[in-house]
Amino acid sequence: MEQLRPTSKLDTMTKEERTALIGRLHKAQNGLCYVCQDVINLQVHKVDIDHIIALTNNGPDDESNWALTHESCNRSKGARELHLQRILFEFRRHVQKYTERNELSNERNFTLNEALLELCPSRVEVGASQKNGFIDLSWVENGQPKTERYALVVDTGKPVTTSFIGMIPFDCLHHNSDINPRSIVDLEPMIEEFYNGYPQLLPSLATININDSEGKARILIFDGQHKAAAQLYARRKRLFVRVFVNCDLERLKETNYRAHTKLAQVRFPQLINDKVGADLFKEEFERYIHKADLSKVSEDTFFSKQVPHVQRSEYRHYFGNYLRYDVLVGNVGTQQNMILEFTETVMPRSTRYPLSYDTLQKTMLDLMIYEKPAREMLDQTEHWRRIEKENLISLLNIFVEEVLAKGRFDLKLGVRRIEEKLTNDPQLIPDSHLRAYRICRKAAMMIWCKELKRAIQTMLSMKSRYKLAAWSEKRPLWAEFHEEDWEQIRKMCRAIRDHKIWGEKTSPDIVAAISSTRQKDWSDILLKGTLPGRKEPLLSPLDQNFMIQSATRQ
Ligand SMILES: [Zn+2]
Repeated sequence: MEQLRPTSKLDTMTKEERTALIGRLHKAQNGLCYVCQDVINLQVHKVDIDHIIALTNNGPDDESNWALTHESCNRSKGARELHLQRILFEFRRHVQKYTERNELSNERNFTLNEALLELCPSRVEVGASQKNGFIDLSWVENGQPKTERYALVVDTGKPVTTSFIGMIPFDCLHHNSDINPRSIVDLEPMIEEFYNGYPQLLPSLATININDSEGKARILIFDGQHKAAAQLYARRKRLFVRVFVNCDLERLKETNYRAHTKLAQVRFPQLINDKVGADLFKEEFERYIHKADLSKVSEDTFFSKQVPHVQRSEYRHYFGNYLRYDVLVGNVGTQQNMILEFTETVMPRSTRYPLSYDTLQKTMLDLMIYEKPAREMLDQTEHWRRIEKENLISLLNIFVEEVLAKGRFDLKLGVRRIEEKLTNDPQLIPDSHLRAYRICRKAAMMIWCKELKRAIQTMLSMKSRYKLAAWSEKRPLWAEFHEEDWEQIRKMCRAIRDHKIWGEKTSPDIVAAISSTRQKDWSDILLKGTLPGRKEPLLSPLDQNFMIQSATRQ
């Protein structure tokens, strides 16, 4: 591709000319890299000179359009021009600034609000007046008063809603974090899209409340904040918005939740669903505990006191998302959760990954996490929720290490038609791959995972690791594990992995039984050691007793 690049004067400079140019640019940029805005030390750093606006976008080929960067900052950009690269770095810096701020603060969130604070700090209220089916908005732009008129449209729902559609300057926009608290962190492709001039297809949504006595009002964006923020970063001046006028905010909030969950036409991949639900829960939950005395409130009182009755079942759903999401992305402690490397999180069925998201959720996550709101006060629960997450990540990682990782499960070989390939040629599928594949089949995993949970509960109970004996039943991971406990759990995982059943290649009866997708069959196979519908035991059971025995064997 290199030869397609238009030639630039930069390519034909002598070494001396280039050195002199580097010096001038370095001085003009106050010693900072054009892209990342960090210091360039000419004695230490390798540098590049490149075009701010690409020649192919009609950028001039002279010093006004040349900028100095760290070599790595320029090289990382691929075909992008420097101006866009600088914007993307700026975006990353902002995300970092707001999401890594002060561990103790609850307000680690990067939304449209923070983007507006950074890029458009002096925003204004607008003057607004409606009459005869029109609304007039007025504001000051570049020191000049400006008024624009929009036609109102009426939507005959219950209650009737009035709105208008228009291109509204970012200078007049604010973010409604009450209705839409979701973080925007994965914005780079969209920024690039708008930077390259693609149009906004659907409007963002906003509200305006016009109070007749004052005539001043704020336009608050509550949906489509990704496209809003992306265009802000792409340095567009206006946003395409539908603005609801004097609308019932609670009604709108409810409508918006429903649109994103129950009514969503395009179902979010489940992991994104968890993220969205987790964010929605977190926002409301943190608002609740922000001013509360943690010794007087609990997860349970949050549901009974804070969440409106009609939204309770929705919020119970978000609560599950919230508990799972931190574990999945490893957002707790220092451990990186490895399970997602072997989990299909986008498609319902995979040809590559041994675990589907659905299987993972219904086994390791839903069985191990206490998904009911706890009644103990939050000053205790917060600690145990954290322990629970850390413990679950440890457990998942041990499972990954013993069963899937280090080439045991071969992602290239995948999961497509494994049993069929096996029938054709038993040597085609390596033993460790076959075991990992079968262990992760949903019907089988539902059974052995329950047994693993019971084995862990029994083991920890015998060692009195639970603060309250009653926790062992519903809250298997609410315990301070010792190093030896993990070693024993590792032995359990090895025992599961090495059980004879997973490696069977030759006995046609057993191989046929293994391909069953019925939990009842798997319960026969693993708990009784019999083939489905038969009496005589063929194999040793893979139940909690077997796991505990394996764990305590030297
Ligand atoms: Zn740099």
